[in-house]
Amino acid sequence: MKAEILAVGTEILLGDIVNTNAQYIAKRLADLGIAVYHQSVVGDNPERLLEAYRLAFTRADLVITTGGLGPTKDDLTKEVAFEYFGKKSVVHEASLKVIEDYFKKSNRVMVESNKKQAYFPVDAVILPNNNGTAPGCIIEENKKIVALLPGPPWEMKPMFEESVVPYLRKFEQGVLVSKVLRVIGVGESSAAEMIEDILDTQTNPTVAPYAKEGEVTFRITSKANTYDEGIKLMEPMEAKIRSRLGNDNIYGEGDVTLESVLCEMLVNKKLTIATAESCTGGMVASTLINYPGISSVFMEGAVTYTNDAKINRLGVKKETLDKYGAVSSEVAAEMASGIAKTAGTSIGLSTTGIAGPGGGSEKKPVGLVYVGLYINGEVKTKMLKLSGDRGKVRARATKQLLDLLRRELKSEERRVG
Ligand code: ATP
Repeated sequence: MKAEILAVGTEILLGDIVNTNAQYIAKRLADLGIAVYHQSVVGDNPERLLEAYRLAFTRADLVITTGGLGPTKDDLTKEVAFEYFGKKSVVHEASLKVIEDYFKKSNRVMVESNKKQAYFPVDAVILPNNNGTAPGCIIEENKKIVALLPGPPWEMKPMFEESVVPYLRKFEQGVLVSKVLRVIGVGESSAAEMIEDILDTQTNPTVAPYAKEGEVTFRITSKANTYDEGIKLMEPMEAKIRSRLGNDNIYGEGDVTLESVLCEMLVNKKLTIATAESCTGGMVASTLINYPGISSVFMEGAVTYTNDAKINRLGVKKETLDKYGAVSSEVAAEMASGIAKTAGTSIGLSTTGIAGPGGGSEKKPVGLVYVGLYINGEVKTKMLKLSGDRGKVRARATKQLLDLLRRELKSEERRVG
């Protein structure tokens, strides 16, 4: 079965809203093994909408629309679909009652135009809306199926899950199972090179790499008759990719983030932490604080921008600053140990660098950042040469420092056994 997703709404065409409905439905159809070859968007215009249905049904058996089920005159998705299928609509009493009750419950006056939302062809499958007024519907005629869903995602998603998925199960042809491996510390092109032969010869499972914010993601997808078979099919491929890329470079699977993986380790190990930041200006602290539950281990974050702040708050030595400059490995080291000692934590993190666009020199160019990590009485530093604008340099420095700590905790786990 081939499906097409048709989003209806001038707001989407104008770029006022993002078509997240299509993204959601596309993902879910992939899970069901239903191929989506086209997605389209059309404004609230009856002629173009009719044209969009005609075109969509030249290339798809199933068209799923979202939006335009509202009570106003420009909400026409349903009416035009009925016209396309040559269907008359009549009031669906049960839906009308639900809509009337909805208005009574929310103490609002129901206007005449709301009745339009209860009109359907007699043979339509009605999809109840438990989160709004507009019911959806499915019409199946001559092997063409249209599913009409409301626009608001909080109405569309439950309707899709509760009514459309059970309906589509009968067309399910196998399942697609996918797993995402999240890689850090290896650039996209290097990562792709490391598994070039796999990428060139993949069939089932398939492997798709994509890069995002200093990370690379590999999605492995297998197609099988059952979920368990799909998982089995995927296992050898996953093992191969892990051994090629190096397990330490793979920080997690699925919907995790670098910080969630790291923070979970910190909380589980009860390792207290504090941060002293210069060029990242609090980004490291803020990233850690994104994680719910971090309060049990995160003690303090200091933004020590000037030399004086580094001396007064962290105890960085004036001689070190004079001799090596603020952007140096030595200062990063004293910042990291200084914050850990004064905040009384097991771990101290620091950043000092030149985020640009100004402030660089030949010896210390824009993008040069030193990060420091104090842990177990020892300090490590790392020099980073980062590219990109000010925001990117700060974000990349933050990510690399958090990854440095993640790797340290991992290798400690191995040492301890
Ligand atoms: P209602 O019954 O609330 O009028 P509707 O089915 O007529 O719903 P629209 O009026 O087209 O839907 O859209 C209502 C709202 O739903 C939009 O303002 C927007 O916030 C959201 N929405 C619509 N289409 C999409 C989409 N494709 N992706 C994400 N959000 C959407």
